[in-house]
Amino acid sequence: MKLFAGNYIDGQWLPSASDEHIEVADPNTGLACSRVTSGHENDALKAIEAASAAFPAWSKTPLQERIAAIQRLAGHLGDMADDLAHCIAGEVGTPLKIARIVQTLAPIQNCSNFIEIAGTFPWQRKIKHSMVLREPVGVVACITPWNFPLHQIVLKIVPALLCGNTVVLKPSELTPGTTRLFGEALHKSGLPPGVLNIVNGLGQNVGMPLAQSRAVHMVSFTGSTRTGQAIMQAASATIKKISLELGGKSPSVILPGADLQRAVKATLGGCMLNNGQTCNALTRMLVPANRLDETEALLKAEFHKLAVGSSLDAAHRVGPLISAAQQQRVRDLVQSGLDQGASILAKNDAIPHDGFFVAPMALSVQPDNVLAREEVFGPVLSVIAYQSVQEAIMLANDTEYGLAAAVWGEREEALDAARLIRAGQVDINGAPFNPFAPFGGYGQSGIGREGGEVGFEEFLEYKAIQLPLDAAE
Ligand code: NAD
Repeated sequence: MKLFAGNYIDGQWLPSASDEHIEVADPNTGLACSRVTSGHENDALKAIEAASAAFPAWSKTPLQERIAAIQRLAGHLGDMADDLAHCIAGEVGTPLKIARIVQTLAPIQNCSNFIEIAGTFPWQRKIKHSMVLREPVGVVACITPWNFPLHQIVLKIVPALLCGNTVVLKPSELTPGTTRLFGEALHKSGLPPGVLNIVNGLGQNVGMPLAQSRAVHMVSFTGSTRTGQAIMQAASATIKKISLELGGKSPSVILPGADLQRAVKATLGGCMLNNGQTCNALTRMLVPANRLDETEALLKAEFHKLAVGSSLDAAHRVGPLISAAQQQRVRDLVQSGLDQGASILAKNDAIPHDGFFVAPMALSVQPDNVLAREEVFGPVLSVIAYQSVQEAIMLANDTEYGLAAAVWGEREEALDAARLIRAGQVDINGAPFNPFAPFGGYGQSGIGREGGEVGFEEFLEYKAIQLPLDAAE
């Protein structure tokens, strides 16, 4: 069994102050495969100290040197791409092909995207007689989830470092192998000691002290809405900048003018991505009531083709969930949904016996069903019938979340609907993901945005220097 005991602090791997460990299981077999330190408050404090000491010099380092450091980091991640993809497929359960393209190559490419943004960013501008500067916030705590482990790390630490901040990263305790590979790439990239530190462990032991610390100037968090609330509360005592990327219950609105077959197929693909363990998964499919039977037939045909099995076999499109707890949670939610009157439209029961698999399924639900309201985080699609376009928009917005949405229909009707949906991103007719566009949510999906220039700016403060009027001309 692999042991991940240490933390990367001040440029070196150090043992944790805790000698307690958490066991992590292999999602494909269900058997314990590694142990990771459960972490200690003193680890977090040591990392904050290192990041604080590194801040004055790093924040003054010329941008070109910061860019060169990120280029080296991206280069080393690129060299490890195969290992990273296999590790993520093995730890998260992401099917290998998706682990390679979405979980590994996309984040490595995103390093270059942020370098491009940094290179053209307006760091200084005049507003009347003020010189307005953009400056790093200070020490940033980045707390990340397990579902897209490398992607979430890159989305935070790369813009944070390019902006001149120093960072304490607290990755998910459920993906210690991915964290270790990332740490190796980081070490090789030769960033000055203390600029980026990694502390492993449980949220309560490590994440909480980071959120509470007076020496941390910003917390950038991605994870569940419940943890986001706890972090916001903990951070409030020291008034720090906060960015929260939380859960979702994103609708796919299939309008009367849509190509139903294309819309159903793509919505299912969006829902099943990463086995449903995706924050912006399209989990509520809204269809015209008079096309429900047709939708059911299309879903049955698609589920028939959905190959479920080991995530390490490139032929599979759906793998296991990450943990026994997640598997149980999804099964319980489905049972509650059935108890509340949901009916199964299509299902694929051909799943392995061992491991944390859940049979992918689509259910017809009423808008007040738990499956229409709660984030399931598994391969479960809820189908809701509507009578009018007005009702479809009302149902799309009938959620506490607001992370993402899709609309299908004739271009103008789809655009009109997109304008009415309260969500941070809306894709029309299968338009692809844009890493330069802001990503984040309305409502309980969070505060702030990640990605692109808007996400980059989250890691900057404004400073306005007023010039005497005679010098301002
Ligand atoms: P989680 O909230 O359980 O954990 C996220 C991180 O927070 C982990 O590193 C965890 O150790 C830490 N943490 C847990 N409790 C903490 C506490 N009390 N104080 C400080 N840190 C704490 O979430 P998860 O299960 O890892 O991830 C799944 C969730 O993340 C889903 O809800 C998903 O929608 C969301 N997510 C959102 C986005 C987005 O961009 N909006 C992206 C990916 C995932």
